[in-house]
Amino acid sequence: TDAGQTTETLPADPPAVAPERDLMSKFDGLIAERQALIDTGVTDPFAIVMEQVKSPTEAVIKGKDTILLGTYNYMGMTFDPDVIQAGKDALDQFGSGTNGSRMLNGTFRDHMEVEDALRDFYGTTGAIVFSTGYMANLGMISTLAGKGEYVILDADSHASIYDGCKQGYAEVVRFRHNSVEDLDKRLGRLPKEAGKLVVLEGVYSMLGDIAPLKEMVDVAKKHGAMTLSDEAHSMGFYGPNGRGVYEEQGCDVDFIVGTFSKSVGTVGGFCVSNHPKFEAIRLACRPYIFTASLPPSVVATAATSIRKLKHAHNKRQHLWENARKLHGGLTAMGFKLGTEKPDSAIIAVILNDQEQAVMMWQALLDGGLYVNMARPPATPAGTFLLRCSLCAEHTSGQIDRILGMFQAAGRATSAIG
Ligand code: PMP
Repeated sequence: TDAGQTTETLPADPPAVAPERDLMSKFDGLIAERQALIDTGVTDPFAIVMEQVKSPTEAVIKGKDTILLGTYNYMGMTFDPDVIQAGKDALDQFGSGTNGSRMLNGTFRDHMEVEDALRDFYGTTGAIVFSTGYMANLGMISTLAGKGEYVILDADSHASIYDGCKQGYAEVVRFRHNSVEDLDKRLGRLPKEAGKLVVLEGVYSMLGDIAPLKEMVDVAKKHGAMTLSDEAHSMGFYGPNGRGVYEEQGCDVDFIVGTFSKSVGTVGGFCVSNHPKFEAIRLACRPYIFTASLPPSVVATAATSIRKLKHAHNKRQHLWENARKLHGGLTAMGFKLGTEKPDSAIIAVILNDQEQAVMMWQALLDGGLYVNMARPPATPAGTFLLRCSLCAEHTSGQIDRILGMFQAAGRATSAIG
């Protein structure tokens, strides 16, 4: 039996392991750092619980009504009545889960439906859905670039892109963040005949800055490299059809990776492409094959959401108005921001150090505003920042209240004069 593995039979006091052999010892530094933070009396920024979620922009945190300005719910689709109904119908008709891989028993009607919705949204011939965006990057990068080939990536790439490189066998080359020149130089040093994949992101999620994708794709093509752009933080509101920064800049990218966890409002990841052999990915990609597929309710909500996003012009426009208003207001107060202009729905407020960032974050939370605390190694160049991400459902009145809370917290913590 498995009796030997149940918790009841584990000794309450496990025998001490010599520190040098205790695999958990490597976390001592992290544990101490977290404890030191909590000992200062602040709420742990990495242990927030949403006790109740009232709308895409409001939740109850620690018993208090709080405006959400730190979610990826850019288009506010999580409470869309059609999206919710689609999920309920799928639960009723198909049950709670698929119990298997897409490759075997895990492809249901709505997995086909959501891939159809993606092909329609992006105007591509191919679409493949993964269980998360993280796995889409993991799978696509490790499967596309193999032994003897190269992945060339921006130094500020998302963790899932780095992990995709680690999962595969290609050589990895990094270039300076958003530097077309450095990309050109590094590609120029690689063997001409070797296969190459340049991995880019439309919007970089920490500072909210965008990539000069057009120039980068041109440089990649000049060197005979294929391109993949992660458009996780631009779907729904960037470009004439909401396809992303690559659409806005009019560039021809070989593979687009995206996620359902942001503008789509649920969970899941995908890759779309016009490559004639794209379907072969399903036969070779380990993070696609060796895991269970998304539950039917999730893919049904995603399909409905994506079909609605295609026509969400008013939401798109309002999201940009919100970004301009928040960026303009914070700049006028004297905050240092991650970008000079409102380049995306992410506005990063850069603070001097961890102490100021935590104090400011806490002051905002106490005032009824939730933003993301971000710190190295997630942030570039050792910065501590408060990341604000806007939602199309934030009202103009909410943005006024948000600005008021920033002003009060900024003064209380001397982040502004
Ligand atoms: N790519 C980027 C750029 C991201 O920011 C994220 C998540 N924050 C992902 C991929 C992973 O997406 P998911 O949440 O669907 O795993």
